[in-house]
Amino acid sequence: MHLQRFREPFLPIHPPSMGERLVISGERLIKGMLFNCSMCGNCLLQETAYICPLLCPKGLRNGPCGSGSHDQCCVDPSRPCVWHLIYERAKALGSQERLLEVQAPLDWTRVGHETWGTVISEARERGLLSPIKILQRSDRREQVDRMFAQIRQPDWWQGDEHYHPPASSELVSRLQSALERGEFVVTAEVKPPVGSNASKIEEQVEQLFGLIHAANVTQNPMATPRMSSLASCLMLKRQGIEPVLQLTARDYNRLALQSEVLGAAALGIHNLLCLTGDPPTAGRNPAGQLPYDLDATQMFWILRRMRDNSTFLDGREVDKPPDLFLGAAGSPGNPNLNHEALRLEKKINAGAQFIQTQLVYDLEVLERWLEALDRRNLLSKVHVLVGIGLLRSVKVAHFLRERIPDIVVPLAIIERLKQGLNPEEAGFEIALELIQNVKTIPGVNGVHIMSLGWETILSRLLNEITATGDT
Ligand code: SF4
Repeated sequence: MHLQRFREPFLPIHPPSMGERLVISGERLIKGMLFNCSMCGNCLLQETAYICPLLCPKGLRNGPCGSGSHDQCCVDPSRPCVWHLIYERAKALGSQERLLEVQAPLDWTRVGHETWGTVISEARERGLLSPIKILQRSDRREQVDRMFAQIRQPDWWQGDEHYHPPASSELVSRLQSALERGEFVVTAEVKPPVGSNASKIEEQVEQLFGLIHAANVTQNPMATPRMSSLASCLMLKRQGIEPVLQLTARDYNRLALQSEVLGAAALGIHNLLCLTGDPPTAGRNPAGQLPYDLDATQMFWILRRMRDNSTFLDGREVDKPPDLFLGAAGSPGNPNLNHEALRLEKKINAGAQFIQTQLVYDLEVLERWLEALDRRNLLSKVHVLVGIGLLRSVKVAHFLRERIPDIVVPLAIIERLKQGLNPEEAGFEIALELIQNVKTIPGVNGVHIMSLGWETILSRLLNEITATGDT
């Protein structure tokens, strides 16, 4: 296994006492050698099959991002995805289901400090320090598990492995209402302008009016700055188009996330798509910060509790809780559907209400993914919007097939683009057929159309599917 050390050990914010420094040195030496430990002070090794999740460059503590492939990290392609290794080791140890517990973001006041002292004092309190007493207890396993749960689940987090349906059945957006009514929903992706020219976005969405249920506005795709998703969403709203706000863990720390969502809800923006985000290394230099403060699962946990429990992360009461309809991203092309279903179940348990998938060109791939979700009883808990990407040329199809992990573009599609007299016309027909076929698959509630740089054809496609009654 090639897992190079990713970062130097964290240093404590507050200077530790002499005694603590000794324990820190011992812990750093032993856990450093055994687990490449960075001394995060918020240890999860027991839950992650003894592979440190901080070996993930994004610092994700609840599962993999959607940007890497199972054998290659999206930040450092010279090594496998750490989370793939965690899933595999957990499977071998029979502890994969334990990965469903939603883990807290780092408490930075504990970073750089030892965890052994905390474990010892907890064990003492529970009478678990003496080996003889431990052996006498029939419930020792349960007691030890409870002790570690108490340590890793602080009062301000209280994560668990259970499904938390929305506390209220009230519908908060037109998109949610249409999905609940059982309509086949169509959304489209809008890329904000690379500048402050509002008319650019207005022109882009003008042609979508009346043809879609909602437009999803990207947030700094490929880690490259554009106009913010929130500002763009507001412009869409003014034009009568319901927006879906994208929020990435890359761009929002825990403070910014909570304040942004309150602002969005106050402006009448209630649909949210929470993503991990492309790594800063995908953008132009200089690259931004790693690891992230939050991961997507933690975003759902925080936002759902703000909405349903009126609670900020720090325990304060939210004055007027935000109305939110929360979405996650899914990868039907993930080669390991067992991992994919586990990853999505955690997000759904934490609060995701709809899933927008990566681009789908192979319906068998989509059906296998739906079956994997169904095996874990997830389809009754979420709405599924299938990603449809417009193929303008053979080059675009090759790029997606070869360069983007988890997108399966069958050779038959590439051949069809090559053989058509006009590749653009062939691309248009492929998209139309995909939408018509996807609509007949049980478990699919709509499509999300991405123009992939071919915005001019979007309104023709939307007019066509409206005319043929596909919405
Ligand atoms: S950044 Fe993504 S691909 Fe890389 S180790 Fe973390 S989860 Fe895996």
